[in-house]
Amino acid sequence: AANSRAALVTGANKGIGLEIVRQLSPKFQGTVYLTARDVGRGQEAEKKLQGDGLKNVKFLQMDVNDKKSIEKARDFIKEKHGGLDVLINNAGILKFVPATGPGLPAIDRSFEAVKDTIATNVTGVLDVCNAFFPILRDHARIVNVSSELGSLAYLKNEEVKKLLTKGDLTVKEVEQAAADYIKISEKGNAGIDLGYPEQFGPYGMSKILLNAVSRVQQRDLDQDKTRTDLVVNSCTPGYVATDLNNNSGHRTVQQGADTPVYLATLPPSSGGKPVEPRGEYVDERKVVNW
Ligand code: NDP
Repeated sequence: AANSRAALVTGANKGIGLEIVRQLSPKFQGTVYLTARDVGRGQEAEKKLQGDGLKNVKFLQMDVNDKKSIEKARDFIKEKHGGLDVLINNAGILKFVPATGPGLPAIDRSFEAVKDTIATNVTGVLDVCNAFFPILRDHARIVNVSSELGSLAYLKNEEVKKLLTKGDLTVKEVEQAAADYIKISEKGNAGIDLGYPEQFGPYGMSKILLNAVSRVQQRDLDQDKTRTDLVVNSCTPGYVATDLNNNSGHRTVQQGADTPVYLATLPPSSGGKPVEPRGEYVDERKVVNW
């Protein structure tokens, strides 16, 4: 039906995203769209969850690096549901240099790695938001899956830090900061000499930018008087064993999906009191500094 509820999770064919869909499905009165860039992997994941009895889970193709696929998915949701109620930006990448032995290899700080990481973890999220924010319904919940590696503590460039924490920061400025970072990385080493994140390189920087923009998104949505009670938060799933880190994490996907699902199912604000948290960074269901 044109008004039936819909939730959408990006990068949901495996890892934390798949588990987010699994946990959200029984809690959500409506269809939960498991999106994936690859049709085969997405359909297989859909089959697995439906086989486990989660009948409201449906696969939808979407590559966050492909605007056409994002718009196609948006048009489908708009047509079929009339709007979107939950958006979970989970898709993300972390690039390592080729492994030379056991354990986690070093972070890839090449120009290519910077470009790819920002394209998926930042630009991809913003493109998805640009497409889907206009069709969010009242009380929609948006979750940006970030990381504790996106902490400002890893950003030593005071100028960029000042920019990303100012109260009137705009999405455009975050996009410009991402473009500047890519430009600087042309010379290699991902701007370490200029105070960009060293240990966690482009991945860390991408999540810093994501945390910064999440607060801006809340402020911008609050300005939109055509809709009420839209809530955006960013969060960390914690260090979870998935393919992203060669399964080195110490938490399970079940634990990792808990906070994103909690944020996606925050109850509607009532009695004139906005629901909390909103526009925050959340770890294990608690608001923390980033
Ligand atoms: P996985 O590598 O297990 O899964 C990542 C998912 O993102 C896959 O489904 C992958 O699809 C998808 N993806 C990658 N690029 C795109 C794209 N362009 N379009 C659509 N989907 C894409 O990682 P995790 O489950 O660990 O990570 C999920 C999120 O959690 C990420 O944002 C990550 O940064 C974050 N996170 C993870 C932590 C951890 O310890 N695991 C810690 C902190 C944050 P495909 O199978 O096609 O590659």
